[in-house]
Amino acid sequence: MKLLIMGPPGAGKGTQAKILSSKFNLIHLSTGDILRSEISKGSSTGIEAQSYMNAGNLVPDKVLLAMMETTLENFKENGLILDGFPRTIPQAEGLSAIFESLNQKIDYVINIYVNEDVLINRLVERAEKSGRADDTKEVIVNRQKVYQELTAPLIKFYNNEIINIDGDGSIKKVTSRIFNIIK
Ligand code: ADP
Repeated sequence: MKLLIMGPPGAGKGTQAKILSSKFNLIHLSTGDILRSEISKGSSTGIEAQSYMNAGNLVPDKVLLAMMETTLENFKENGLILDGFPRTIPQAEGLSAIFESLNQKIDYVINIYVNEDVLINRLVERAEKSGRADDTKEVIVNRQKVYQELTAPLIKFYNNEIINIDGDGSIKKVTSRIFNIIK
C-alpha cells in the first residue's frame, strides 16, 4: 500500500503517519526527517537544504525530486507512507512520473485539516520543547504562509482521491477518524 499524508505544519501528520505506519506495516518516509538527517551528516543535500529550512521556506523542488526518486526506487517493494512530499504541484507531477515509471500508484491521499489559529498555538507550544531551528514564532507564521501558497493547491490536484480528516481533537480521536476510512 502507498499512502500519502498531507496537511499544514502542525496538523499532526507526522504523528498520524507514525501510527499508520505501525498499524499497516508501512515504511514512514518523512522528508523533514530525511532532510534533518542529511543536515546532521553534512551531505551536499543537507548543506543545500539547511538555509531554506531554517527560514521556513521550501527546499527547491529539484533537490526533493532527486532525493525522493532514489528513495522511492530503493523502497519500491515496500508499503510506504509519504509524509511531507509532495509539497508543491511540480513535486506532485514528479511523483506521478516516478510512480508511473515504477509501475506503482498511490492508494490513498489523506488530508488533515485544522484551523490556522489552532495550528500556530500548537507549533508555538511544540517550539518550547523541540529546539528545532525552524520553530520560532516568525518562522512558524512563514511556514503557514508557504503552505497556503504552495502546498494547499495540492488539495485540488488530488481532488478525486483525497480523504479529508478533521485534525482538531486528541491524537486518538484523529487516528480513529482515519481508521474509520482506511481499514
Ligand atoms: P512540518 O511537518 O512541521 O511542516 P517537516 O519536518 O515536514 O515539518 O518539514 C520541515 C522543513 O523541511 C520544511 O519547512 C521545508 O523547509 C523542508 N521540507 C520538507 N519536505 C519538503 C518538500 N517536500 N519540499 C520542500 N521542502 C521540504
